[in-house]
Amino acid sequence: MESAKKDIRALTKDQLRDFFVANGDKAFRGNQVYEWLWQKSAHSFEAMTNISKETREMLKKNFVINHIKVDQMQRSSDGTIKNAVQLYDGLIVESVLIPTATRTTACVSSQVGCSLDCKFCATSRLKRMRNLNPDEIYDQVVAIDNESRLYFDKPLSNIVFMGMGEPLMNYKNVLQSIEKITSKEGLGMSPKRITVSTSGVPKMIKKMADEEVKFNLAVSLHSAIDEVRTSIMPFNKNFPLKDLREALQYWFSKTKNRITYEYVVWEGINDTQADVEALVKFCRFAPSKVNIIEYNPIDDGAFQQASNNAIDMYQKTLEANNITVTVRRSRGKDIDAACGQLANKS
Ligand code: SAH
Repeated sequence: MESAKKDIRALTKDQLRDFFVANGDKAFRGNQVYEWLWQKSAHSFEAMTNISKETREMLKKNFVINHIKVDQMQRSSDGTIKNAVQLYDGLIVESVLIPTATRTTACVSSQVGCSLDCKFCATSRLKRMRNLNPDEIYDQVVAIDNESRLYFDKPLSNIVFMGMGEPLMNYKNVLQSIEKITSKEGLGMSPKRITVSTSGVPKMIKKMADEEVKFNLAVSLHSAIDEVRTSIMPFNKNFPLKDLREALQYWFSKTKNRITYEYVVWEGINDTQADVEALVKFCRFAPSKVNIIEYNPIDDGAFQQASNNAIDMYQKTLEANNITVTVRRSRGKDIDAACGQLANKS
């Protein structure tokens, strides 16, 4: 449960070094403890075997190590694993391991619940309770990396921020978690293997561009027509496509990183030629590719996956316009682990 003591992993490496110096020890001790906290994912001070007993006692008096606990693990018939993860204050988020022949991908959450209102997404029905801390995001990745080694005999290869929450509404912590995931003192993963998925918050996309981040950006577009997009993603009223477009152009000018658009085609919503044409036009503003993803029904049946004909029309039209398009099938549906299904049942 929540404690009055500070979570030691909220400290930066410099702050940790300073703490030891202020307590009459060497700055180097801070490096050692930092390594235990991140690279070695120690869950207790006792585990820090190269730190003296007195120092460990002193740390225990001042700090706690908050860490997640995998509360429940479910395995799908297709190999997908879903973790229900308990946070230090008892709240639950979900993360998913998606295995393929060549890679294993972690899909992680960035918030408890979500403040956005996408009508087709199960998570949007949960109130946003709070942002995840950097260590809570990091720990989800570590847990999935361990499962990948255990069940698939190989380390985790990719990370997508496509779980619960809107990563750019928890910007600072998400970037800090990526800093730890990519750092040699953390997991040492390449940022090229990380994708942050956003429903499109223009101001934050620009901010990220200014920081010249090295990870990939995916945007959940679903429609390139304002009225349609607002009808399924009401926050689009406040962040219209014109602003999004401008931010994405800026992103590309700064990072030279191609953008991925995630797109579901629904019957009677965005399945006409006019919808595809608007998408083709939108794709011209910055180098991009389109990922057509399958709709994963959430309980009420208001949305229906479009016919194969409509998907084919999208694919052909995009290809005819030299836009890279992939049509992706969902994984883990039987355990509600597919896109947009997280928190369906819990
Ligand atoms: N908030 C972020 C990340 C979480 S959603 C974002 O919006 O990008 C991850 C992806 O799943 C998004 O592309 C989202 O649009 C999509 N998604 C949400 N609900 C879905 C559903 N029921 N079926 C298929 N994809 C869905």
